[in-house]
Amino acid sequence: MKVLDHIKNSKDKTQFSFEILPPLKGQDIQSTFNNIDPLIEFKPPFIDVTYHREEYVYKELENGLLKKQVVKKRPGTVGICAAIQNKYGVDAIPHILCGGFTKEDTENFLIDLGFLGIDNVMALRGDAVKSETYFTPEKEGHQYANELVSQIKDMNHGIYLEEELLNSSKTNFCIGVSGYPEKHLEAPSMDSDIHFLKKKIKDGANYIVTQMFFDNQKFFKFVDKCRAEGITVPIIPGLKPLATKKQLNLIPHRFNVDLPDNLIMEVVKCKDNNAVREVGVAWCIEQSKELLKYGVPFLHYYSMGKSSNIYQIASKVF
Ligand code: FAD
Repeated sequence: MKVLDHIKNSKDKTQFSFEILPPLKGQDIQSTFNNIDPLIEFKPPFIDVTYHREEYVYKELENGLLKKQVVKKRPGTVGICAAIQNKYGVDAIPHILCGGFTKEDTENFLIDLGFLGIDNVMALRGDAVKSETYFTPEKEGHQYANELVSQIKDMNHGIYLEEELLNSSKTNFCIGVSGYPEKHLEAPSMDSDIHFLKKKIKDGANYIVTQMFFDNQKFFKFVDKCRAEGITVPIIPGLKPLATKKQLNLIPHRFNVDLPDNLIMEVVKCKDNNAVREVGVAWCIEQSKELLKYGVPFLHYYSMGKSSNIYQIASKVF
């Protein structure tokens, strides 16, 4: 079922959902199931599965020269989605990127999803590969997520890349896109970022999932700004509980997200990461409760492949 239908059927009740990462290459799928199993108690209508593009690693050869190798550390997004739908009867939402995909790759990826009965997809640009500063699309690929959204929308209308295809069937994807309550890292201003977010919606996206944030006021302001700009689609908040001291530096740097001072001070006082985890859980419970009162359609949690803290939060909120 599509995300929009899950929202319609919920009759304004906030629902629980979460995002997982495919396991590292070489690990089996059981570790993923072990993390999903306890969370099924909270009846998630859907589970997102991230997509991880290739990375470049440099291996030193015997002669001292470096050899560039392409590796994909977390393959398997589509397979995991199929397995989730099969095992739990819950909708799985694969993420799809502009990065690393030609338009032809995108089309074939979407054809696979259609055959598997997957009817939601989260359309993203992806980041620059680790060794590069700026995002570079494939030669025959998309530069921005709105172009990817247009391609998916075209397929929903039976328009494929090959114009001569006869009797082509229409895909039926509900399309999610990202939104940034604290602005995307590269955006020159919030207004510009919202302008392009509006373009993604105009080009066919059906709902927005936000980047993580730790101050609900930032989310409320973002929603107000979107609504003032005429963006009417559902906006789903993304939440991540802090779990390690290292994240105090990593999260603001990597995701362009501010951490509130009182949260920082509580984490600084912690003796170890077990204590940080407890602080992160308590903070996220408070955030969730306030967002629930505000009336968000979903509370969407970034589990990062570990579910015990998400379980603690969900059991206090749902
Ligand atoms: P876009 O919407 O294309 O925006 C990128 C930047 O370009 C923004 O600054 C925007 O303002 C600007 N812009 C947008 N359109 C235009 C245009 N037409 N012309 C000029 N400027 C424009 N990454 C992964 O690798 N795998 C994942 O599975 C994944 N899942 C994610 C899930 C969520 C909910 C979120 C919030 C992020 C996720 N990301 C993932 C990270 C995401 O790929 C990065 O944040 C990436 O840098 C931007 O992707 P986007 O889709 O937001 O890009």
